[in-house]
Amino acid sequence: MEISPDSVFDIQVKRLHEYKRQQMNALYLIYKYKEIKAGRLPETPITMIFGAKAAPAYTLAKDIIHLILCMQQLISEDPSVNPYLKVVMVENYNVTKAEHLIPACDISEQISLASKEASGTGNMKFMLNGAVTLGTMDGANVEIHDLVGKDNIYIFGKSSEEVIRLYETAGYHPWEYYDSDEQIAELVDFIISKELIRMGDPENLCRLYKELIKKDWFMTLLDVKEYIARKEQMLEDYEDRMAWAAKMLVNTAKAGYFSSDRTIEEYNRDIWKL
Ligand SMILES: *Cc1c(COP(=O)(O)O)cnc(C)c1O
Repeated sequence: MEISPDSVFDIQVKRLHEYKRQQMNALYLIYKYKEIKAGRLPETPITMIFGAKAAPAYTLAKDIIHLILCMQQLISEDPSVNPYLKVVMVENYNVTKAEHLIPACDISEQISLASKEASGTGNMKFMLNGAVTLGTMDGANVEIHDLVGKDNIYIFGKSSEEVIRLYETAGYHPWEYYDSDEQIAELVDFIISKELIRMGDPENLCRLYKELIKKDWFMTLLDVKEYIARKEQMLEDYEDRMAWAAKMLVNTAKAGYFSSDRTIEEYNRDIWKL
């Protein structure tokens, strides 16, 4: 597979899980595909890289991978889109692959549903290597935000307090977002469009489609619009190469806080008391 080193590398590599919301990134992929089809072309071509291990019995994880692979094929076979957008699904993501991917990254995807990620360590590895984070206020993204300041990270999405309240009151109903928002419906409907069904397995695609509308336990549709808007802002800001380089530099410079010396010393003081 050939990829352009001059494209923006937008990378989400981590275990495949609904709470990490690779499916939300896949909806962005659908959004971008449709934008390019409509003639709204990105300034710099985008390479979207996914990599993930999934538990073998995790059906929905495989459905999400299937959607990403269908989009990959659809885009690579379409000469009106493939100069601007490329999808890479890295096989058998592991530490060796991570060592190549993380230093190459421009946009670090850390988009878990707020309150669900205990910390994350991928976010720190990307930051250390100069990537700029696109993320929710979840896990160690919170510390990264506090360290680098709001101009050097791209935050979006509902807060963990709001999310916890939605679980407590059973107040989240994905079909309400689907029914009341044309843009969301268009993205979700594309999963079972003629183009994609022809490309892939209807069983996988229909199951994912129904899941998103009827259950969506990790609230993809709650944050998807803000996510898309924030990533679009990020891609726009990327064009100012000097300003972007400054963001990268601040990220690397502030990453020392995540030193294991400091972490373990703090654990010992507060928890282990050895
Ligand atoms: C760092 C790392 C992870 C953990 O990534 P998160 O984004 O924190 O979930 C998983 N797999 C590999 C191979 C890693 O290097």
